[in-house]
Amino acid sequence: MFKPIIKLQIKNLEKRILSFWQKEKIFEKTLKNRKRKFIFYDGPPFATGLPHYGHILAMTIKDTVCRYKTMQGFNVPRRLGWDCHGLPVEYEVEKDLKISGKKQIEQMGIDKFCEACRGIVFKYTKEWEKTIERMGRWADKKNPYTTMELSYMESIWWIFKQIWEKKLLYRGFKSMPYCPRCGTPLSNFETNLGYKNDVPDTSIFIKFPLIGKPKTYFLAWTTTPWTLPGNAALAINPKFKYVEVELEGEKLILAKDRLNVLNKDYKIIRDFKANDLLGQTYQPPYEFIPKQKDKKAWIIVRADFVNIEEGTGIVHIAPAFGEDDLDLGRKENLQVIQTVNEKGEFIKEVKPWAGRFVKEADKLIINELRETNLLYKTEVIYHTYPFCWRCESPLIYYAISTWFIKVSELREKLIKNNQKIHWVPGHIKNGRFGKWLEEARDWAISRSRFWGTPLPIWECGKCSKIKVVGSLSELKKEAVNFKAIYPNKIDLHRPKIDEIKLKCECGGEMKRVEEVLDCWFESGSMPYAQNHYPFEKRIDFEKNFPADFIAEGLDQTRGWFYTLHVVASILFNKPAFKNCIVNGIILDEKGRKLSKRLRNYPEPEEIFTKYGADSLRFFLLSSAATNAQDLLFSDKLVEDVFRKLILMMINIYNFFATNALVDKWQPKDETKNLSVLDRWIVSRANGLINEITKGLESYNLNLAAKPVQKFIEDLSTWYVRRSRDRLGPTAENQKDKEVCYSTFYQVLVNLCKILAPFTPFLSEEIFQNLTDKESVHLEDWPNVDEKLIDENLEKQMEQVRKICEMGHAKRKEVGVRVRQPLQKLRIENGELSREAGSGSARRIEKDLIQLIKDELNIKEVKFKVGKGDLKVELDTQITPELKVEGEARELVRQIQELRKQQNCRLDEKIKVIGPSWPTDKKLQDYIKKETLATELLSGEELKIK
Ligand SMILES: [Zn+2]
Ligand SMILES: [Zn+2]
Repeated sequence: MFKPIIKLQIKNLEKRILSFWQKEKIFEKTLKNRKRKFIFYDGPPFATGLPHYGHILAMTIKDTVCRYKTMQGFNVPRRLGWDCHGLPVEYEVEKDLKISGKKQIEQMGIDKFCEACRGIVFKYTKEWEKTIERMGRWADKKNPYTTMELSYMESIWWIFKQIWEKKLLYRGFKSMPYCPRCGTPLSNFETNLGYKNDVPDTSIFIKFPLIGKPKTYFLAWTTTPWTLPGNAALAINPKFKYVEVELEGEKLILAKDRLNVLNKDYKIIRDFKANDLLGQTYQPPYEFIPKQKDKKAWIIVRADFVNIEEGTGIVHIAPAFGEDDLDLGRKENLQVIQTVNEKGEFIKEVKPWAGRFVKEADKLIINELRETNLLYKTEVIYHTYPFCWRCESPLIYYAISTWFIKVSELREKLIKNNQKIHWVPGHIKNGRFGKWLEEARDWAISRSRFWGTPLPIWECGKCSKIKVVGSLSELKKEAVNFKAIYPNKIDLHRPKIDEIKLKCECGGEMKRVEEVLDCWFESGSMPYAQNHYPFEKRIDFEKNFPADFIAEGLDQTRGWFYTLHVVASILFNKPAFKNCIVNGIILDEKGRKLSKRLRNYPEPEEIFTKYGADSLRFFLLSSAATNAQDLLFSDKLVEDVFRKLILMMINIYNFFATNALVDKWQPKDETKNLSVLDRWIVSRANGLINEITKGLESYNLNLAAKPVQKFIEDLSTWYVRRSRDRLGPTAENQKDKEVCYSTFYQVLVNLCKILAPFTPFLSEEIFQNLTDKESVHLEDWPNVDEKLIDENLEKQMEQVRKICEMGHAKRKEVGVRVRQPLQKLRIENGELSREAGSGSARRIEKDLIQLIKDELNIKEVKFKVGKGDLKVELDTQITPELKVEGEARELVRQIQELRKQQNCRLDEKIKVIGPSWPTDKKLQDYIKKETLATELLSGEELKIK
């Protein structure tokens, strides 16, 4: 007990605690001792990437809340999960194998490719586990859920079938954000993950010749020249006026309000109403695909989405490449002119650029238009453009057949269920998340890829009937060739599952559609699938749903938070989680993204070694990043926490421990005869418990962590500072010493408990040193004793400290050190007393004044009561008596210094030799008492022995 902590080994201290936790299975014990469940869901990361500060932030938040709930008496299982499927994994494998695109995957064989994917899904789990452990996060690492295990996939099929049976599933031909490199459509929220700002692009103004009117053109504008071979119409908006102008011998038609796009003098020759233009035909720039008889093409149509903010008021329409375009095409019966294949390359019919990636062909098309005199002008624009969230290829809009969940039909439910969620910060609810729900679009959930949970949809080749399979037993029952395909082990992955055939009622053969599921659908289904719901533990699950708590980053409002919410609303018409902490993004000191390439951040391991995981944790928790705000990271800020919190705590504890050791003090509960200083720190400590509890209860970690620093400062710079003389071998009043130890001890023990969720290592170390209990993390959360909170006293103490601060400043001003006693301090407009007259109030006032006297080394304190600002005035006259007393104190300081230099034990008695001693017996006794000197001897220089 009471072993002092050696400060220089913070890394060793934490490592020792880690191995203690491991050896004694402390985490497991917290689960064993508690019955009532607190349900936490962990969002599954991909272990194909390494953990970074963003993960450490989210994991710190998760760990802190779970540790707190544990101390409140809950049983908090913490199961990790791994996202195993989908583009992130496939993309890594493609890079590893140096192949790219679906064609090359099919050439190597889907089975080999999927095996390669399976082989890398756990690539970095060891690194993840290492980080999780080192940062002090408690989690069940032995029993994680994985999205690729059979039971998980079976649950996914069950959920999928539920959606089908609720008639919320359909196949649509839609223009989708599409990654040409990955060869798959993406959902709108995946697209949202990859927007980049200020992307330069060339926009062009193109001339479309009117049929039968030589040298007369419609002038249209586009930022995607590659879509021009797919042009099927030009759209105008009847809200605007259109004009024909003459310019350099040519006639151009455009909106009157957009004449400023023309760069030379022009002459207006005619006004049009939009109706005059509708239905007119024009010569398209390209006719690679012949016109279909039953469809319209190359005609002027109306569209309300044509705006007047940019372009010419005439919009080029390519139904194959835009959502609005396709909708308009359906309405107007326009031909869908598909000129691009699924790899984003022009098809062979587009002869000059066949096989070229469309974005690369932009330049060639522009050159060609210039040569054929159809280009009016080009401009460089900077706009926001979507890129693949996984491989960073520029996305294109591409019309493709895709499976959708009708989320747009669920909006009302989603919005209603969102109201039941407690979001931190609160503005997420009706802000970022709520707004997103209001606009919720149908969710494209099929991916034309390989490594994922296959869509459990079988389609009849003869009558096109569709069957959705919702379990393994159903598959076994329905499949005509189950045993042949799965003689031993069942694995639902492609390509095996593709061989399973079902028999249709019509006698035809049903084959599985080729697509796999969006991996976000799988992570959004983790509450059920990790439990193999509904095939196992059904009642147990339903009892514990929804989760009490989840936490992830702001980007997940359109990712995991969203997919969890959608799936739960479909299945149970409930939210999936009750409380959600949304953390912000960590940037470097200058506000830039953390980047491996720029190396603009220190490695976490470096921070752990230098300042310890506790420092990093507390730094993150006390930042606004726990409230969805951006955090500028710098190791200086972590160092600050290390010095001001961790080292200060160690100093405080060490002071207590060294004295307690010398006095052989044993913990006792002394609650009587508390000094005003004790009552004050007890009041502050209870206030602190109160504030931290409130912060944690509302899941506002920033709020919870905020008062800690101030308390530790108060403890160190006031309670400890003013209690130095009360403890240790030189203290006079044994009874007061007991009270001081006891109070100090209680404060420290409680401090360890309330800091345990934030700084689990140091709290454990100090707690174990202070008590004979096994672990602070097995303790119950301390209760607040409201009776002990004395706000009046806290205010009075604030006043006392303010006065002392001003008194010190005055001393500095006149150049008189604190060791030199002074006669008098006059205080103007200071007020210490409360209920005037009562005996206890007078006693408190007297004690408070004594604190001022001791701190400032003053004989008398006088109050001049008036109105106005607090002022202090020092009597700086040094009388001969004050002078010798000052000299005696100076001698004490020098002797203490010698004791330190010679490593005297705190209670070691000494003899002192010195050139001169005060003649006053009282001062001699004072020196002896303060320095534990038995004798004051004469000699040439000051020495001790
Ligand atoms: Zn991609
Ligand atoms: Zn059929």
